[in-house]
Amino acid sequence: MEINLVSDTVTKPSNEMLQFMFKAKVGDDVYKQDPTVNELEARLAHFFGMEAALFFPSGTMANQAAIKLLTQPGEQLIADKYAHVFNYEAGGVAFNSGVSCHLLDGNRGMITADQVRGAINDPEFYHAPLTSLVCVENTTNKGGGACYEIDELKKIKAVCDAHGLKFHLDGARIWNAMVAKGQHPSEFGKLFDTVSVCLSKGLGAPIGSVLLSDKTTIHKALRVRKLLGGGMRQVGYLAAAGIYALENNITRLAEDHRRAKELAVALQKCDWVSGVEPVETNILIFSVKPDRNENEIIAKLKEKSIFISSMGQGKLRIVTHLDYKEVMHSYVLEALEKLGF
Ligand SMILES: *Cc1c(COP(=O)(O)O)cnc(C)c1O
Repeated sequence: MEINLVSDTVTKPSNEMLQFMFKAKVGDDVYKQDPTVNELEARLAHFFGMEAALFFPSGTMANQAAIKLLTQPGEQLIADKYAHVFNYEAGGVAFNSGVSCHLLDGNRGMITADQVRGAINDPEFYHAPLTSLVCVENTTNKGGGACYEIDELKKIKAVCDAHGLKFHLDGARIWNAMVAKGQHPSEFGKLFDTVSVCLSKGLGAPIGSVLLSDKTTIHKALRVRKLLGGGMRQVGYLAAAGIYALENNITRLAEDHRRAKELAVALQKCDWVSGVEPVETNILIFSVKPDRNENEIIAKLKEKSIFISSMGQGKLRIVTHLDYKEVMHSYVLEALEKLGF
């Protein structure tokens, strides 16, 4: 039994999901003639209370399209220093949109309205790039699965409105935030110009992200997606996995969160652990004591068929997910207890 806690992207489609995918009705989605893709997009737009949606092959492409749609070359966006759009999208902000990033030193990947206000360049000062977009991530990835209070997001939105800035949500793990905080998707739909969501993380679909916005922006997004090489044909088979995931895999995320919290408690008792960051959702970040090497811990766990990843600087990461079952969880808890040096 191999236990992969490296990411929630390692899940494989279940038999039920595969059966559902096989039955999908498909057409050419580049001509918007795939009924299953159209259904997925309509459902998500409705769910978030937004006008329209567009299916993308990856979250990176959905974020990059959003940034392209909301900025002009030479402008600047504001984001946390841990932001996926800055750290893990291969420099796409600069490459695709010609935009620079003003990074904020937030708390676990989350920024505040006051920080945003302080980072906006004076539009009259033409030596500086024009600030035009704020990007937030919920839950935060590198920030350890932390999630925003809606009130803080409302405050950031007010700052955006006062300064004519657009507001994008990287909601790759928005489902985890909703479940952890008891929030409804329409609360997010009201606040953002664009929202990207992933179906292939906690929800367990093999591929797929969706960008949500108003009708005009999504119409323009069709061309940007095509330009980025993301126009797909009979892709309803994949959209069907997304529909299945929305119907079956949201509320169960609470189990992933419980297991991550239980792992945090077990780690706190290990004498080689120096600190465990607070766990709100399915991501758990912890540090090893300075006299320990994180690669040594990874190797020890690997001997027991448990795979976790390093974040560098003595930090390790565990991510719980759909394919991390209760039997595996009991085994890992026991292994951690016995892991001596
Ligand atoms: C995974 C992730 C994405 C998108 O990643 P893809 O691998 O391109 O689908 C975007 N933002 C965050 C915060 C993520 O964790």
